[in-house]
Amino acid sequence: MKVRIEEIPGEGLRLDLVEEGRALEALAGDIDFSIASPVEAHLEISRSGSVIDISGDVTAAVSMGCSRCLKEFGFRVSSSFRNRLVIGRVEEREKEKELTREDMDEVVFEGEVLDTREVILEQVVLEIPQKPLCRPDCKGLCPVCGTDLNEARCSCARVERVDPRFAGLRSFKVK
Ligand SMILES: [Zn+2]
Ligand SMILES: [Zn+2]
Repeated sequence: MKVRIEEIPGEGLRLDLVEEGRALEALAGDIDFSIASPVEAHLEISRSGSVIDISGDVTAAVSMGCSRCLKEFGFRVSSSFRNRLVIGRVEEREKEKELTREDMDEVVFEGEVLDTREVILEQVVLEIPQKPLCRPDCKGLCPVCGTDLNEARCSCARVERVDPRFAGLRSFKVK
């Protein structure tokens, strides 16, 4: 949904949105995860002067390849957030920051129309782990023969690498 900044009413907007996963994927361009439908979001958008305040929550089901065993797995994204956008031009805000030496934590918004799909997509992307794991103790693939070590053993000689954080889980049997 597109929201014209100047049309945000004084009392703000409360939106309950349902987006199609594919539409968000298309908007994102080059991503290595997929987003299932529906993506649900509740957004509250208000504006006072040149500041736009956006808060809300987003829930989505995403799937992606495990960084160790490459198997596709799904997980749920659930994000509550609050963003503050300042309407203006990026260069001008930078100049102002230099003058006031204020350390402003803000996102400058250029333009007249806010696309709620971009807001929602951003929240989903922020929740995607850098090194996704299908489960915390995923054993990954044998670097020699490629066997999925979660499912089978192989007889290749290799040095075992265990994430120290999960070392304690080794005594814990996973079927
Ligand atoms: Zn895995
Ligand atoms: Zn092997």
